[in-house]
Amino acid sequence: MRISDRVRRLTPSLTFALIAKTKALKAQGKDIVSLGAGEPDFPTPENIRRAAARAMDAGHTKYTETPGILDLRKAVCAAYAKQGVTYAPGQVVVTTGAKHALFQAIQAVVNDGDPVLVPQPSWLSYGDMVLAAGGRPVPVACTEERGFKLTPDVLRAASAAESAARLVIFNGVSNPTGVVHSPDEMRALAEVAEERDLWVLSDEIYERLVYGGAKTAPFASVHPKAPARTITVSGVSKTFSMTGWRVGWAAAPADVAEAISTLQGQSTSNTCSVAQHAALEALTGDQTAIEAMCREFETRRDHMVRRLRAIPGVHLTVPQGAFYAFPRVDSYYGRRPGLSGSIAMAEAILEEALVTVVPGQPFGSDAHVRLSYTCSMQDIDKAMDRLDAFFAKLR
Ligand code: PMP
Ligand code: GLU
Repeated sequence: MRISDRVRRLTPSLTFALIAKTKALKAQGKDIVSLGAGEPDFPTPENIRRAAARAMDAGHTKYTETPGILDLRKAVCAAYAKQGVTYAPGQVVVTTGAKHALFQAIQAVVNDGDPVLVPQPSWLSYGDMVLAAGGRPVPVACTEERGFKLTPDVLRAASAAESAARLVIFNGVSNPTGVVHSPDEMRALAEVAEERDLWVLSDEIYERLVYGGAKTAPFASVHPKAPARTITVSGVSKTFSMTGWRVGWAAAPADVAEAISTLQGQSTSNTCSVAQHAALEALTGDQTAIEAMCREFETRRDHMVRRLRAIPGVHLTVPQGAFYAFPRVDSYYGRRPGLSGSIAMAEAILEEALVTVVPGQPFGSDAHVRLSYTCSMQDIDKAMDRLDAFFAKLR
């Protein structure tokens, strides 16, 4: 058969490929430490698991409304209301993870050939999602000198250079850099969006995972005119350690939410009914476990930062959120034949140090690699001991 041009434009998700490779190597008995997967290692909290069991017993095992059960959409609205954004349940579509919310949002507003501004470094799936919609991803460099942040002047210049671009993808708490944009910084971006007539697809999946007093907010809350030009995406995967349950959402102006719901009604229908009931408990139930997870991530972050900064030639911008560190390792490139970029570096680290890290190249920076601190402190130490030895050999 012939594969469509649309799909042939896409690259398989490297993060998922690495997760699979790590599992396969472990199954062969190799003692790999994985700093690869962007997936919390904690079990889904008990109250949430129990809510799912109760939902099954109560017979919530059928199709639901396409955009999700009303109680969950109301809970999403209530969570935004607390943060100063008013959404009606009709503006919320519950999706198969935040990933599918992003995918469908892009499908809903991007036409063939449309340029879309994609800050770099950023999560590797954005560009492919734009390609899948027939759009053209336009990289917008957010340099390490500027702390990897999308700044108003950079956004303004990118929009002027690509004046047909209507959409910018924004990840305020960033995968892979861990950078956190403050509400004031976002307000300045919202002003540029107003001035340049840009729509903002705001990926807020890491909104609750911020450390050391860093502050974030829903993009739609930072400017009175922001809700009308923002599609807010989030979900339960990261905050509640629920990656496998596949529940996310998009909250948007009513016409966009309706378009996303129409698309969903012709593709996946509702996401899993039982998982929706679990997500309802996640949003409305006891939050103690979440606070404990967050504190643990912060402790791990501090430790990984200390260890990375102790390696000569490795430069790190301290991450303030999510669960990633994105050290710059290019001073080691060329120290050995073939060690010429982040893909070769990640391969060498996996083969020789038995540690999975993710190359920065598909995130838009070949000088960096990504390390997730989604494993125990013991594993972080084990991985860092191995990385110390690996880099020492290269010096
Ligand atoms: N956005 C970013 C920045 C992510 O890192 C991820 C990780 N998977 C997602 C969205 C998608 O999350 P979900 O598991 O809810 O689809
Ligand atoms: N978002 C996580 C990561 O970047 C999970 C994998 C994926 O969805 O790409 O590792």
